This record gives sequence, structure tokens and C-alpha cells, in this order.
Amino acid sequence: MPSWLRKRRKKRVLKYLFFMALILLSLPWLLYLIFSGDKHIHLDGDTLSINLYNHTTKQVEKLKLEEYVVGVVAAEMPASFPLEALKAQAVAARTYAVKRLQVPDPRVKTIDRLADISSDPAINQAWISSEEMGKRWGKLGYVVNRNKIIKAVAETKNQVLVYGEEVIDPSYHASCGGYGTENSEDVWKFAIPYLRHVPCVDHEDRHKAVVQLVSLHKIDQLFETQLQSAPASKMFNSSQGIVMKEKTGTGRFKKVVLGGKTITTSEFRSKMALPSSHFELELKGANLCITTHGYGHGVGMCQYGAAELARTGKRFDEILAYYYQGVKLAGLAPGKNG
Ligand SMILES: [Zn+2]
Repeated sequence: MPSWLRKRRKKRVLKYLFFMALILLSLPWLLYLIFSGDKHIHLDGDTLSINLYNHTTKQVEKLKLEEYVVGVVAAEMPASFPLEALKAQAVAARTYAVKRLQVPDPRVKTIDRLADISSDPAINQAWISSEEMGKRWGKLGYVVNRNKIIKAVAETKNQVLVYGEEVIDPSYHASCGGYGTENSEDVWKFAIPYLRHVPCVDHEDRHKAVVQLVSLHKIDQLFETQLQSAPASKMFNSSQGIVMKEKTGTGRFKKVVLGGKTITTSEFRSKMALPSSHFELELKGANLCITTHGYGHGVGMCQYGAAELARTGKRFDEILAYYYQGVKLAGLAPGKNG
């Protein structure tokens, strides 16, 4: 082979290798561009507002984001809780609101297409107006509590929680009853990486155990069952009676079978207006004795646990990092999507 041909071939191989290396090196970046989209939080917290559907007045109110967060913290957490717990709550409330601005909630749009979020806690997060705060707390309480909440919101201004580059859906509940929080898929459908079970700090609180008697007649009416006709000896663990199924690590059951009819414990809780979906059942004559633990669904931040952590000296960012695994704080900053 003539030397000029060898040189040309060598040059061609080198060129080929160079392009292959270029493609390989840029592959991760290309994949990032294809699959990541633009996940930066280009929202200007200073000018950001949210359209709140006030379910008390049945009106849509446009509020500045920070102003909205004050109303949520006031409604969702006792103002007597330590400041760092209130700050953790403020970040969770703000994050939830920003997530709703990014991913509209169809349930809210069905109520009013102009609304981004509802003040109904059964749909989104609770929210109260300054007027309502005054009614609840009285004149002195209004000044003290509102100033404390404003301070908690101001000291966390524009801060939200992200997992990777995504703003998270920060579920929270009043109290896990001391049993620890739940994996999201044990309560709802999907496994969410930051909503994992964590043991909770020991918190004695008013939600720890609530006992109530409900007649079998009422349950039969609510769920269209015939539990009243089941003999007492067959009330539990039989097809005629009640079977509790799929216990989670904390002792919460995922499903309850009533006379062959399977429902989730969340649905049972909602229809029975129970404080929590963590419960045990016992038969007492013609009644069911229901013992509930904690308050709420048990996923994400436990507010009573957050207060206890704050009392032991933990900062709001440490509290949030504890209940939302692998998340980070990020700031809302102006940008092209704002
Ligand atoms: Zn807890």
C-alpha cells in the first residue's frame, strides 16, 4: 500500500474516532436535554400570586404567594408550636402552592377554572383570612400569633423543596400518633421517593388514641353491607364480617373488607369521618369500638413530630430533610418561565 494511501486511511480512522468520542461525551448531555425538559424554578417569588378558591365565600381571590402562605400556616398548624416548626410548615405550604401552579389540580379547575388552589383541606390545604384569625384568636392572640407566623414565613421567604430539580408534593399530616410516617404507596397508589417511612420522635399528643362507638346499623347504611346479620363470633376474619388486610410497618392497615366488600382504609376513614386511617376495630354489643391513632393520613411531615424536633433544637431545614427524604431547599428566582 502506498504511503500516501496509508496516511489518508489513518487520517480517516482518526476522524472517525474523534467523532465517536464526541458523540459519546455529549450523550449524557443530549439525554439530559431530551428527558429533563426545563425543570429550573423560574418563578419570581416577589411577584408571584395565586388564585385561591375560598370555599367559605365561594369566591376566587388573587393573593400574593407569601400572603397566601401566612393564611395556610395559620390554618394548618397551631401558632403555639415552636418557630422552627412553623417555618417548616411555611416551606411545605409554599412548596405545595408552587406545585399546584406548575401542575394544575383538575379538582380545583372543576370548581372554578380560574382557581389554582382551594381553601378546602379535603382538596388542597386549609387557609384562613386575617378576619378569621381575629375571630379564632381574639385581639391579643391575633397580634401575637399573626406576627409569629409572619416571621416564620418571612424567614423562609421564596424557599421551596425540590427533589432533583422537581418541586415536590409535600404531603403532611397532624400526627402519626408516634408510630412513624408511612410510605406513600402504603396509603395511596404511587411510591414517591421522598415520601418514605421514617420513625417519628416520641410525641404525646391529643391525637394519640381516640375511641368511639359506631353502631353496626350506621356502618351498614354507609357501606351498604349486612354486618348486623353476622353472628358476633363471625364479626372478624370471616366473609360475613370484617377483615383488616395488608398491615404496613407502622401497624396501619391498607384495606378493610366489610362483608366481602373491599375498600381502602382511607375511604373507610373518610366516610366514617375518623381522625385517622390508623385504627383498630373491636365489637361491643351492636357497636363497633374504633380506636384511632394519630390524626391524618400519616404520609410526609408529621406536624406534632416537627414541633417536638424543633423543641429539641432542630432547625426547619433539618426537620424538612428528616420527613422528606433526599429533598433540598431551592429559591424561587425570576426567569423566562416566570
Ligand atoms: Zn409523628
